[in-house]
Amino acid sequence: MPQYSVGNRSILRFVLAALVLLAWGCGEAEKKPQASSRKLARIVQAERATTPPPSAQPSDIPPNAEPERDTHQGPHDAQRTFAGLADAAGAQEFEANTTILPDSAPPLPVIDTERVAANGIREIAGERLTLYTDLRSAPAVDELPQVFASAIPQWNQYFGIDVSHTADWRMVGYLMKDQERFNNAGLLPPDLPRFLHGFQRGSELWLYEQPSDYYRRHLLLHEGVHGFMKQFLGGTGPPWYMEGMAELLATHQWTNNELSIRWFPHDKEAVAYWGRIKAVQDEYRAGRGRSLEEILRYDAQAHLAVEPYAWSWAAAAFFDSHPRYRDKFRQFQQFAPDTTLTFSQRFYDSMKAEWPQISREWHVFVANIDYGFDIAREAIDAKPATEIPADGATVTISADRGWQSSGYLVETGATYRLEASGRYQVANDPKPWWCEPNGVTIRYHNKLPLGMLLGAIVDEEAAAGEMTSLVTPDAIGMGGEAPVEQGGTLFLRINDSPAELADNSGMLELRITKVQ
Ligand SMILES: [Zn+2]
Repeated sequence: MPQYSVGNRSILRFVLAALVLLAWGCGEAEKKPQASSRKLARIVQAERATTPPPSAQPSDIPPNAEPERDTHQGPHDAQRTFAGLADAAGAQEFEANTTILPDSAPPLPVIDTERVAANGIREIAGERLTLYTDLRSAPAVDELPQVFASAIPQWNQYFGIDVSHTADWRMVGYLMKDQERFNNAGLLPPDLPRFLHGFQRGSELWLYEQPSDYYRRHLLLHEGVHGFMKQFLGGTGPPWYMEGMAELLATHQWTNNELSIRWFPHDKEAVAYWGRIKAVQDEYRAGRGRSLEEILRYDAQAHLAVEPYAWSWAAAAFFDSHPRYRDKFRQFQQFAPDTTLTFSQRFYDSMKAEWPQISREWHVFVANIDYGFDIAREAIDAKPATEIPADGATVTISADRGWQSSGYLVETGATYRLEASGRYQVANDPKPWWCEPNGVTIRYHNKLPLGMLLGAIVDEEAAAGEMTSLVTPDAIGMGGEAPVEQGGTLFLRINDSPAELADNSGMLELRITKVQ
């Protein structure tokens, strides 16, 4: 039986800390473990810096301690705190938005079809979208109005809006390769603000041509969500919610003329040039991991850069897929008319009691995000923890879930005997792979055997924003003697990709006995 000694433990901790960040290198040069450790440390610092003083403004999202990095932002904005902005937004009340305004649809633009045609722009007519483009006819372009029409019933369903209210809703879109043609055709109003990829206003949306069929469709749906929310929810909420929802409801699969929105992409080829997962990975590795509080504070200028789209999507996908937070998150659509940070403050306040736990789960999510990340199965299973009885305790861990609390506290300076047992399935392709707590050594995840039992000691009393040991777990395997450097609640899981828990099954048991 391998000894679970201090020496091994610290080596494993070191290796894992590095691997958590290296595993998704995408062919990049390997980075030094020291650099990875520093990145983790920097995240902690950044998040700690946002932790409020215990007595000050207890109900506010912690103000940002350091100036915003966004160069689009003026010095005045950089010094504003969340609390200040929330105050400035006033005590305006935004009650549940139940009013649908079918008669107030913005007018459709009047198009000079001859002038448009003279500039080499053609019209693709659809039931819910008329699209003007200078792109040549191709299936992936000509089907865009059909894609748009397919999304509307799914947006209806997501927001709980009766089909009858949206039956007459339609938009006009401009998909531009050569912007000059659209200028000459009078389709680009001079007062249109500058935008990155797409823009929506009233019944119109503008898109620049994109390098992939996926991202062109995505952008159309993204701008469509903005139009839909403004029309049927009365607004879009603050920047993180506006862009997070648009990203959430635009990320899709389109196969055999069937659209499926609100998809967490399983592979990068299916969402070419979308890049949100890679952006979060890159940002995290570069020490720019964002806390939820920072995302909730995005201002109107933040989305002139591309990364905030990735963070806003990640936050929306996290809350919308999480079994414990989903319902509350979805209730906030009723406050969509509130585009101020009061919305964010209200959202934060509604979950304040759970925020330390949310913050830990967010850190685990961001540190391990990958295509197919299974947010529901990775939801951390916490429960009240108690002392280990004198004659020891046995805990049961599911192979098909992420981190699970053992329900037991381990003490600083004490040593425990850990004995794992069980046989469970860690994959099912092409046939069930059986595994014991040491894992299977013909397949690895994060350079440890797939299926190996992992442990982490968590300080559940830590404030939101503290670094969690769940992102740097220790290998337990079959067990051994484990001295505890820093006490807390023992959490357990098996080593597997967060995208591949669904094909696991079975349980393992861990016997824990205090030896000294
Ligand atoms: Zn947008």
